[in-house]
Amino acid sequence: MRRIGRKTGPEAEDDYFLRLRKDMVRTQIADRGIRDPRVLEAMLRVPRHLFVPSDLRHRAYDDSPLPIGEGQTISQPYMVAWMTELLEVGEEDRVLEIGTGSGYQAAVLCELAGEVFTIEKNAVLAREAEERLRSLGYGNVHVRVGDGTLGWPEEAPFEGIIVTAGAPSVPQPLLEQLTDGGRLVIPVGSGGMQMLTLVRRKGNSYQTSEEGSCIFVPLVGKYGWRDSGRSWDGGW
Ligand code: SAH
Repeated sequence: MRRIGRKTGPEAEDDYFLRLRKDMVRTQIADRGIRDPRVLEAMLRVPRHLFVPSDLRHRAYDDSPLPIGEGQTISQPYMVAWMTELLEVGEEDRVLEIGTGSGYQAAVLCELAGEVFTIEKNAVLAREAEERLRSLGYGNVHVRVGDGTLGWPEEAPFEGIIVTAGAPSVPQPLLEQLTDGGRLVIPVGSGGMQMLTLVRRKGNSYQTSEEGSCIFVPLVGKYGWRDSGRSWDGGW
């Protein structure tokens, strides 16, 4: 029997994913202590299922990272929310992201910031992410292919810099590209696990705090790990 008034096709699918997204924000993010209402709202708005490969769409709202091709991953939703909250993004802020990947974190930042600059070393991922962000209507994002450990000097300084790959140490160029009062959120560590580190610039001094452990793919570049052709090159 056909039920009149029941949505079908893409609309029903949108409703379905919205319901999953609401559950994700409540159980994985708010219940675990993320309080900033702007961050929760942004996580509710970005359609995460459109940032994962189509065969993994049904797992887009799972409590885990997922593969996005090229040996890389989209971060776990909680990790995205946590890092975004630490970044304290203001409406007018210019934010730099290193490690565009799928573009999901960039989209969350676009919901919160004035302008978002994001750098991805893998040209295939960068192009896909740029197309995805455009098609979703994000007009305040700029995607560049390159080594993000060098920052984006032509567009610096930034109120916030977020690194979504694990670094051996904090890249000096990123510190230099923060505004006075600017925040840098970066996973730092020498192996498969890192310490999520928050650096706050005050004039020419930097206050560092360790926020908790995390696991990211390696940041490979001049001020990151060397590229050995293997997926991990931590020298460990
Ligand atoms: N933020 C992404 C997930 C990032 S995964 C998302 O929301 O989907 C980490 C990404 O960092 C990978 O795509 C990897 O290619 C990239 N990466 C690693 N080293 C880099 C570097 N030096 N500069 C720019 N991107 C880098």
